[in-house]
Amino acid sequence: MAASAAAEPLRVALTFDDSLKDHLLIAAPMLEERGWRGTFSIVTDWVGKDDSHLTWDDVRELVNRGHEIATHTKSHQNLVSLLQKGQEAEVRRELLESTDRIAAETGFAPRFMVSPFGRKNETTARLCRECGLRQAEVPRHNFGSNNCDRAAAVVEDLRKKGVERADILHHGVSAADHGGWCSFADRESFRRHLDALAELERKGEIVVTDYDGMASSCALKSQVWPRHGVLSLSFDDANFGQWEAALPLFAKYDARTTFFVIGTNRLDFMRKALAAGHEIGIHGLNHRDAPATGSERDENWFWKVDIAPQLAALGEAGIPVRSYAYPNCRRTDRTDALFFSHGIPRVRGLGAPFPPSPNPHDPKGEKLDKWRPVATADGFFLPAADFLRARLVPNVIMGENYHTDIEDIMRAIARAGERGEALFIVSHGISPDAKGISMKTEWLERMLSAANGLGVLVRGIR
Ligand SMILES: [Zn+2]
Ligand SMILES: [Zn+2]
Repeated sequence: MAASAAAEPLRVALTFDDSLKDHLLIAAPMLEERGWRGTFSIVTDWVGKDDSHLTWDDVRELVNRGHEIATHTKSHQNLVSLLQKGQEAEVRRELLESTDRIAAETGFAPRFMVSPFGRKNETTARLCRECGLRQAEVPRHNFGSNNCDRAAAVVEDLRKKGVERADILHHGVSAADHGGWCSFADRESFRRHLDALAELERKGEIVVTDYDGMASSCALKSQVWPRHGVLSLSFDDANFGQWEAALPLFAKYDARTTFFVIGTNRLDFMRKALAAGHEIGIHGLNHRDAPATGSERDENWFWKVDIAPQLAALGEAGIPVRSYAYPNCRRTDRTDALFFSHGIPRVRGLGAPFPPSPNPHDPKGEKLDKWRPVATADGFFLPAADFLRARLVPNVIMGENYHTDIEDIMRAIARAGERGEALFIVSHGISPDAKGISMKTEWLERMLSAANGLGVLVRGIR
């Protein structure tokens, strides 16, 4: 036992598959009593299908109580079989439609895909990345009436083998049998199973976290935090070489961003960024100023010359686009409506309803008196729960021309973590000696490292 006592605890996620009503009524309160949160894997077509399944109100309730939601796809098909039949587009649909539905219904974008029947491979992993998801890869151990007193033995076995992370999986947790999956015989045996896990945690043999906690270095803390904050990062224009050079830095901290690209030339970079889990947004074919162009000609003309050709080229290349960043942040309600009506659900810009930027563009230092700390500029923070609901999001710009005070930015990230808020930051290039409107690599690394330590998720605009 001496050897195992010295070893790191096994990190476990307690997962609940197939959108069952028991999960809210029985499992969630029992987890909460013990200070844990669960990972609930939702099949979106099954939500609300009958009394034994969760409704969307129930799923929202789980989110609001701090639990993690994963997608278990739209209709619970065997994804590997679909691929064998050449139906890659169908797999993509299973992933994207379920993710979008969960995000739209709950405001929480699932970050992990738990594959139905455990059937997955390299191709399903790649499709997940292209849809902004990670495929859950941790080995799963299903518990039910046939092994309800085996948790301690299973954990001991895993630790002997040197396993670091495991998924403790459940389906039904009461007497009802749900579609042939092994359920617990009654809720008392489920309670005994959780008590055994709590004892293992007390002895330091396991740490109960969730998928996000297993994936990040903050696993030991994640269980006591009701809600993570979000740092939404995006980078604009056409700084492809610098962005490509920064991809390993983002990967090091499991951070993702949105690259808002001008033009259609660097499809190779866009594919590479997508494969690494980032998002591609559009910034116009020629970076035209949307309101000015709209008043000179009309908005349809602006759409036709600057947006439609870029969207068409990216669409043809299979690059999904869900957001637009306004050049120079200039927008109006009318231009917002133009994007929404053409199926781009999210835009990033400034102007009412947002307060004046805390960091005015000021290359000569003339407006220094207007500068105020980002960390106290309430209008640039949203409750994290609204992160995905907002169709229009603001941004703080970083770069020497904007008088970036990195200590202030660090305080702003800490605030997002403490209060469970989303903070939106944008810059342009990324390089060690960045001047003007670009991000210094050293700043970026400090931000990513702090966010990682605080449990603040770093994501793009989506
Ligand atoms: Zn399932
Ligand atoms: Zn720009």
